[in-house]
Amino acid sequence: MSKRKKQIAAIKGTNDILPQEVGKWQKVEAVAAGIFRVYGYREIRSPVFEATELFEKGTGQTSDIVIKEMYTFKDKGGRSLTLRPEYTPSVVRAIIENRLYLQSQPLRFYFIGPMFRYDKPQKGRYRQFHQMDIEVFGEEDPAVDAEIVEMADYLLERLKVSGRKILVNSVGCRGCRTDYLKELREKAESAHRELCEDCQRKIGTNPLRIFDCKVEKCREISTGFPSITDYLCTECRDHFRKFCGYLDLYNIAYKTEPRLVRGIDYYTKTTFEIISSKLGAQDAILGGGRYDDMMKDFGGPDICGIGFAVGMERLLSLVPFSEPEKNFVYIVCMGEEARTMGMELARDLRRERIECLLEYKKRSLKNQMSRADKLGAAWVLIVGEDEVKKGKYQLKQMATGQQKEFTAEEIRSVLKESS
Ligand code: AMP
Repeated sequence: MSKRKKQIAAIKGTNDILPQEVGKWQKVEAVAAGIFRVYGYREIRSPVFEATELFEKGTGQTSDIVIKEMYTFKDKGGRSLTLRPEYTPSVVRAIIENRLYLQSQPLRFYFIGPMFRYDKPQKGRYRQFHQMDIEVFGEEDPAVDAEIVEMADYLLERLKVSGRKILVNSVGCRGCRTDYLKELREKAESAHRELCEDCQRKIGTNPLRIFDCKVEKCREISTGFPSITDYLCTECRDHFRKFCGYLDLYNIAYKTEPRLVRGIDYYTKTTFEIISSKLGAQDAILGGGRYDDMMKDFGGPDICGIGFAVGMERLLSLVPFSEPEKNFVYIVCMGEEARTMGMELARDLRRERIECLLEYKKRSLKNQMSRADKLGAAWVLIVGEDEVKKGKYQLKQMATGQQKEFTAEEIRSVLKESS
């Protein structure tokens, strides 16, 4: 006996989305795309890999994503490439490269697709995961900050995601952050010995990142650190006040979380997250914020931006869903001539957008009927030699057991009516 060949397994932290799960993905994607469209967003699609430099510069040299989590490799031409760990730098690049900023602003784009991060896989955290992402460019008004939070909240409402909580904050601009970072660094320095090794390094690079640390001790210590909200300049404070005011106008409940700095370096002013207590340790369904400097830092025009990304896997785990009833026709053919007729009938019904399955194997009528039942067919169309001669076929409705004879034309209209 031959030995069984060694199987090749999927890469750790990646998931197959199986046919029985795809219906839910499609539903969520369709609901989201429909909502994004009525808020004025258009879809944009960019490559899965980019120059590594794009993320180093965009996502930021001090972010965990760039330091630890990127899938970076050299291609055969020796270029350093990275599988995108997030979407914003790619959209900004695409806007500059395609001069989309010449179109009337604000520009509103959405995107749905896979992201890649070499993170420690666990429930809700994968190495290939999917995000739905929206971005707005060229609108400084805090009304747009509130509009996107309202849209995110509406999306979750439509998908019946209960138990969600909105957290908001302002991380200020480069101006007000300078003073704050000085104070924060001093405070962190005084707690140096108690912090984890990673956080000790962050004191020198970007002490703001200490707030992202997952180590309990560091989290505890950082609650005693100064908070950015006390250091905001007049403009940033005013922006945050107005943003919160608009959320009140929309009747949206939120909580100001002064330590919500999010794990990415480019944020300015508004940051926010929507979390769910039903998610466990990885509780953020979506997160985002403003990034007013990225476009000009990339050598493009001085156009501000704001956006958010929804984690699809986490979102889907919270969305109730039941598969729609199957409504397909199983065509049973008895004999060679009947089979040819069955093939033609199937083609014609499919042209009318009626789902059909045809049995190609030679099986008895009884056997085929029980197969139709097992597969969950709503209808069975029986094509035998006699039927072919008459030009009339037996159509059986499985739920009621009713069976009647129809012409091909009649079958089409009965099935169309029922679909
Ligand atoms: P971020 O791009 O880090 O701001 O994350 C936005 C959202 O993407 C989070 O709120 C999560 O829902 C989701 N997300 C981030 N990283 C992962 C991951 N490794 N696996 C699954 N979902 C993730």
